[in-house]
Amino acid sequence: MKIYNSLSRQLEDFVPLNPEQVSIYSCGPTVYDYIHMGNARTALVTDIVRRYLVYRGYKVKLVQNLTDIDDKIINRAAELGVSAKQLAHQNGEAFFEDSQRLGIHCADVHPKATEHIPEMISLIQTLIDKGAAYVIDGSVYYRVNQFAEYGKLSGRKPEDLLAGARVEVDERKEDPRDFDMWKAAKPGEPAWESPWGKGRPGWHIECSAMAMKHLGETIDIHAGGEDLLFPHHENEIAQSELATGRTFARYWMHIAFLKIDGRRMGKSEHNFILLRDALDHYPTEVIRHFLISAHYRHPLDYNPESLAKSEGALRRLNNCLDALKKYEGGKDGVPSSNLDRETLPLQEAIQTMKSRFVEAMDTDFNTAQALGAIFTLVGEVNRSLATFDGAAAPVFARAYQVLTETCGVLGIYDMDAEDDNNVEQRDQLIALLLDVRQEARSRKDWDTSDKIRDRLKELNIEIQDTRDGATWKIIS
Ligand SMILES: [Zn+2]
Repeated sequence: MKIYNSLSRQLEDFVPLNPEQVSIYSCGPTVYDYIHMGNARTALVTDIVRRYLVYRGYKVKLVQNLTDIDDKIINRAAELGVSAKQLAHQNGEAFFEDSQRLGIHCADVHPKATEHIPEMISLIQTLIDKGAAYVIDGSVYYRVNQFAEYGKLSGRKPEDLLAGARVEVDERKEDPRDFDMWKAAKPGEPAWESPWGKGRPGWHIECSAMAMKHLGETIDIHAGGEDLLFPHHENEIAQSELATGRTFARYWMHIAFLKIDGRRMGKSEHNFILLRDALDHYPTEVIRHFLISAHYRHPLDYNPESLAKSEGALRRLNNCLDALKKYEGGKDGVPSSNLDRETLPLQEAIQTMKSRFVEAMDTDFNTAQALGAIFTLVGEVNRSLATFDGAAAPVFARAYQVLTETCGVLGIYDMDAEDDNNVEQRDQLIALLLDVRQEARSRKDWDTSDKIRDRLKELNIEIQDTRDGATWKIIS
C-alpha cells in the first residue's frame, strides 16, 4: 500500500510502526456549529481509510477529537446567550448524530479537549522546562526558534512565516512566529487552574496532548482537512517532537476542500451546505458516493448535477444488486454446464474488478478509480443478467459477493436497508401480483395480465418474462 505523505510530498510505502495495529489521529470538529459538507468530506475519507485498512487485514485504532473549547465556541455562545459548555455539548451531540446518519463508524476514542486539561498542562510544562516555551502575563508561548525543523510540513521558509505572522503582531511575543499554548483567562470566559494562573489551552496543544495520550508518542497516520496543514499541524509537530524527541506522525494525510461555485466551501465564506440539510434531501449512500467520486487530494465541486449523477449511479448499483441478490448464498464457483465458456467474460470481469479495486485503494485510497472498477462490473453484470438465466447462478453469486464486499468498504450499499421490513413486504406483494398474473395468463386472460404489467410499470417496476417465469426490476 502507498500513501501520499504531505510531509515528504510523495507517495510512500505504508508500513505501520506496529504491524499489529495501525494508529490514526484525525482532527475532529470545533463544535461551535453543525458540520457542513466540506467537514463531512474529511470525516468520510477518514472513515473509508479505516474501513479499507481493516479490509486489508490491519487492526486499526482511530482517535478523533472534539475541540470543545475555543474562541469560536466562546464567541458563538455569547451571541446565542448560552454557556460555552452547553453550546459545545449540543453541537458535539449533533456531530455524532450527523456522522451516524452519513454511515460513519464511531472512532475508538472521541476525546474532548476539556477532559484533557491536565495532559495539556503537563506537556506545556515539559516544553517550558526544555526552554521551548515562555510565560507572559499568565499566557504561555511556544518559542519557534527552538525547533530547527519548524516549517518542514508546510514547506514555509522562516522569512515567509515572519511576513505572515506580522499580520497579527502581539508585541509581547519574542518572535512573531511564536504561538500560544495557554491563554490567560479573560473575564467571563471558561478557565481552568494552571501553574501560570487561570486560563485555557490553545487549539494546537489540545491535539498534541490528546493524540499522544491515546496513541503514544509516535502515531502512524495523522489526518485532517488541508486547511489545517498550516499552522495547526505544523505547530502540533513542533510541540510534540520537541517535547518527546521523537517523530510525532509518520504519515500526514490532508483532505482537499469541497468547493461550491468554484470557491472553497467554508463557514467563513458563508457558502456552506450543512451535512444534515444534505441528508434531508439525499440518501446516505448518494452523499457518500458523491463525496468520494473524486480522489481525496483533488478538489470536488458541490452542485446539484454532481449529486444527480451520484443518484443515477446508485440506482444502477442498487438495481444490479437487487437482481443479483436472489443468487446470494448460491454455490460460489464456475458453472459446470456449457455456459462455462459463455460466462467466461463475466468471470474474468469479476476477477479484474477485484484487482482493480485493490490496486486503486492501495494507491493512496483512490476512491474515484475504485468506483470506476465497481461500475464497470455493474455494466458487465447487467448485460449478463439479460443474457443468462439461473444456469449462471454460481457466477452471479460470486458477482454479488464481490460487489457487496467492495461497496461495503466504501459504504455505498446499505445491506441492512435491503432487509428492511418494507422492502420485504414490497417483494412479497410483487411476488403475489406475479402469481395472480401467471394464473391469468394460464387462463389466456391477457387483459388482466397486461393490466398488472402496465400498472406495475407506472410504479417503476418492470416485469420481464423469461423461460423460468416472470422476473421484475425497479426502473427509474
Ligand atoms: Zn488537530
